Amino acid sequence: MNPKELRKDIPLLENYVYLDAASTTPTPRPVVEAMDKYYYEYNANTGRGAYSLAVKATEKLEEARKKIADFVNAQAEEIIFTKNTTESINLVATGLTFEKGDSIIVPNIEHHSNFLPWLKLRKKEGVNIKIIKADKNGIIDPGRVEEAVDENTKLITVTHVSNAIGSVQDIKEIGRIAEENNILFMVDAAQSFGHMKVDVKKFKADFIAFPGHKGALGPVGTGFLYCNIQSVDELEPPNLGGGTVIDVLEDQFKLEEPPRRFEAGTLNIAGFIGLGRAIDYLKRIGMDKIEKHGKDLTRRLYESLTEINTLECYGDPKNIYGIVSFNIDNINPDDVARMLDEMAWICVRSGHHCAIPAMRHLGVHEKGGTVRASIHYYNILEDIEILTETINEIAKMGS
Ligand code: PLP
Repeated sequence: MNPKELRKDIPLLENYVYLDAASTTPTPRPVVEAMDKYYYEYNANTGRGAYSLAVKATEKLEEARKKIADFVNAQAEEIIFTKNTTESINLVATGLTFEKGDSIIVPNIEHHSNFLPWLKLRKKEGVNIKIIKADKNGIIDPGRVEEAVDENTKLITVTHVSNAIGSVQDIKEIGRIAEENNILFMVDAAQSFGHMKVDVKKFKADFIAFPGHKGALGPVGTGFLYCNIQSVDELEPPNLGGGTVIDVLEDQFKLEEPPRRFEAGTLNIAGFIGLGRAIDYLKRIGMDKIEKHGKDLTRRLYESLTEINTLECYGDPKNIYGIVSFNIDNINPDDVARMLDEMAWICVRSGHHCAIPAMRHLGVHEKGGTVRASIHYYNILEDIEILTETINEIAKMGS
């Protein structure tokens, strides 16, 4: 793998030190070209028209779905297109039927997208939300999850890699607990998809929420929900309309087969075709190589930053991936991010990272959260060097 060569497909990297893959990744040129091709050559709606242009668009969209499914070891009908991870999670939260007294197990370090939809159910349906505390490094002990299980537990939902700290959870073990107790299991793969191999069979999950626009290098406005075909009847389509039914009488209707019953209205066709192209791109680089590069670079990033005396990094360096969250003494994280941009065109995220409970857990909420640097295959050692040098300069201002 040659990141320097691959960077040529992302023109903005000529001008910026982009360290914000956890928010979204810049889209490589072949992905943009695949979307252009749709718009220039076969721009028609899918699943509707009988004319050749519409048939071609449908075939290309379904080709993309198959590529995505193969990539995560799922079947094509298990891939429901959405606009992002958040929509995928909400599809499950609004599609499952809960009764008063049911409980959901969720860790206290989740992104708001895997927290608020469940809190809303507490208010609306009287569902009990059991919040599991992570350790100080953001690791969830599966034993705690097991202790929280009781006969009312309907769902366990956990994020694979924390967007706030980068901590990697033992999803297989938590999945085993869910399976053994016959509980539905959901995983938020927002920070692992495209960075490491995600095999839906190994996770034993009923539902996995994926972004297309982060590690997988697809365009913004794409995401999908993996819904295990065995669990599909648990899920009511939250939205109905064009494309979701096969028959309609005045007083009833018959739903389409999955995934179409969950995909009401016109989809982001170009976006998913782009995502299919992005999967080819990742496969060509090689997921093993991407993961190894990510691991090496995360370690280098953590080590370089911790050499700065007035800087504190969060998380256990042995168990984080792709993300390093930190603070500099006496300087607000948003100010650090602004200075990095002004001084060296460095792009990092700052603040609470849409994970306020996680910030409270780390004890940094009052400080304004953290600064977060996050990497992908296109990042190189020079990026880390520039970041560290610039942070060194900024740290002097705080001491
Ligand atoms: N879950 C996690 C762990 C995330 O990191 C994010 C975004 O950063 C989300 C959910 C929401 O993702 P999206 O913007 O694709 O809805």
